[in-house]
Order: sequence, then structure tokens, then C-alpha cells
Amino acid sequence: MLYEISEKAIQLENQGKQIIKFNLGDPDMPTPPEIVEAAYEAMKQGKTKYSSAAGEKKLRKELAAIHDVSVDNVVVTPGSKWAIFSSMFLLLKKGENVVIPSPHWTSYALAARKVGAEPRFLKGTLESDWSIDVEKLAELIDDRTRLLILNSPSNPTSKVVDDKTFSEIVQIAESRGVTVLSDEVYADISFVPTKSILDFGTEHILINSFSKTFLMTGWRIGYVVVEKELAQRMIKLNQMTTTCVPAFIQYGALKGLESRKKIADDIREQFRLRADVAIKVLSKAGMKFARPDAPFYLFPKVEGLDSEQFALKLLDHGVAVAPGTAFGDYREYFRIALTAGEEKVKEGLETLCEALP
Ligand code: PMP
Repeated sequence: MLYEISEKAIQLENQGKQIIKFNLGDPDMPTPPEIVEAAYEAMKQGKTKYSSAAGEKKLRKELAAIHDVSVDNVVVTPGSKWAIFSSMFLLLKKGENVVIPSPHWTSYALAARKVGAEPRFLKGTLESDWSIDVEKLAELIDDRTRLLILNSPSNPTSKVVDDKTFSEIVQIAESRGVTVLSDEVYADISFVPTKSILDFGTEHILINSFSKTFLMTGWRIGYVVVEKELAQRMIKLNQMTTTCVPAFIQYGALKGLESRKKIADDIREQFRLRADVAIKVLSKAGMKFARPDAPFYLFPKVEGLDSEQFALKLLDHGVAVAPGTAFGDYREYFRIALTAGEEKVKEGLETLCEALP
């Protein structure tokens, strides 16, 4: 359905219609120019050949320093989506299962199923502010559970898992022999402090990306921090599949790390303003949603709504959103990605509120 919405939005645009796109987690701002320049410079200097399947040593060193781990724990991947897939591919056997708090980013379940594992969802509720019920989560774990996914801040709710809950979940996972895959791609731009899986050592899996913090979605670069043996297996998988992330892209990313705080602060502020506008418009229309702890998403609920039908109809009004069914059993919800400027956010969300059945 996400795909159908995207395609229809593009079709309408090709017919000359203006669509305000809130359907994808792809920020509208350009990649910072210094990153583009650094990549171009690297290309001119001949960084256009095959390179290390682990990633450029300079980049891995810098990432290792940021996270206070060894270079051997860091593997650069073509986007964090690949990092997630390769973790599942390497760790899961057919018939095993993965526990996923829901609503969740669609790719976790797709990747798990692709490698023959069963995704097991813990259904969260808006009424509990999307908090994770640790006892219920523990009940889903059995002797075939290999992985547990944490995504804080979350896509689609933008909620952060509080420190106590985070620690309790890691403790439960450890006591049951389950690895936590912690997807922290929105952590650096979060409005509130977040806990990291690396606070518990490198026995689990940290997934991170340059896509969101550095506005580099199309460059396809992410990384994992994992224990050394798993890192070696991931490097081998990179070698036999993607070979390497293009070196010049890694030099662009390396440049981004130099001004990591500034770039993240800028993005966070822009999204805070957008979120404030969105909160105002949606609240005025009486919509129910959780206050976002981070960019980019809001996940409102409208009682009795069929969000798939609504998302399709809304396109005719010039606005694209993602139906809640793309994130689990959430038909009455839809996801708004605040990937347009404040004016457009106001205009698009007012149109959306008017179009509600
Ligand atoms: N994790 C989450 C939670 C995401 O929302 C996304 C992108 N939508 C990704 C990972 C993947 O990002 P990328 O592959 O661009 O690094």
C-alpha cells in the first residue's frame, strides 16, 4: 500500500498536480554542501575503485571513536536497511522468531520473513503513549526467539523508550539469551535524550545511518556496531554481495561527522518547528496522537477510519500520507512524515483535516 501511494503521488505529479508529500521518511532538505564537496573531492582524487568490504579505515576509526568501541566492531553498510537485513540473514535460522514492539517500521517484518523467521509483534497502544509493556514483551519470548528489536526513537510514533524500560528490556533479553537489535537511526536528532544499546556493551547490535542525521538518504550509507566475530561475518557478506560502499560516499560521510553536532542541531530545530505547527493544526481538529519525542513522524488516530481508503482519497486533495496498516495492525491510524517546510505542513494538514470523513 505504501508503494501504491508513492506511485500514485508520482503519477499525479507527472500530470502537473502539486502533491504535498508526507508519505516517506525522506527529508526535503538537501545534503549539507560540505558533504557533497568532500565526496566530489574524493572522486577527483581517484576514490572511485573497489574498496574495503568493512568500510574505509578512516571512517571506521572515527565511528569507533564516537561510540568508544574498537574499529573491529564497526562495519560500514550500504544503508542501515542492509545492516538490518544482513543481521537477520546471519543470525536467524528458519523457524526461529523475532520479537518486535509494534507499531513498527515495515522492513523488520519483511526481512525476518524473507529469511524464514517469524516476526512476533507486541501491540502497543496510543492510550498508553506507545509505552512498551515489558511483562507482555517477555511473554512473547520462547526458546526459538533469537532477536528482539528496539527502535527508539520510533518510526512511526517518534516516541523514545525511557531509560528504565530500555534497561529492563535488555536485561530480559540477556537473561533469555536473546540479542537486541537496536535501531537508533533517529537518536542523534531526537528532541529528548535517548539510551543506546552500546550502554550495555557490544554484545548486541547497534544499527545507525547517515540517511537521517546527515540528510543522505539517497547516498546509501549506514553502519553497525557489533561484536567482532559477527562483524567479520558481516564483512564477508558485504564482500560476496555489495563488495563495498563506494569510497567517495564514505569520504562525504566522514566530512559530515566533522560537523555532526551542528548538522544534527540544525535538523532537530527545523523539525521541532514543523512538529509545533503540526501539533497545533491536528489538535485544533481534535485528533488524537502522542507528542513526538523526535523528528520526523506523527501517528494520529481517527476512530473508525479506514486509513488505506483515506490515504488514497487524500491524494486527490493533493496530500500524501502513509496508512497505519503499513506499520502493523493500525487501520485507524496514519503516519505523517513532516518532510516539508512549515507553511506546507500547515497547508497540507489543514487540507487533510478537512478531507477526513
Ligand atoms: N530504520 C528506520 C527506523 C527507518 O525509518 C529507516 C528509513 N526509513 C531505516 C532504518 C533505513 O534507513 P537507511 O537504509 O536509509 O539507512
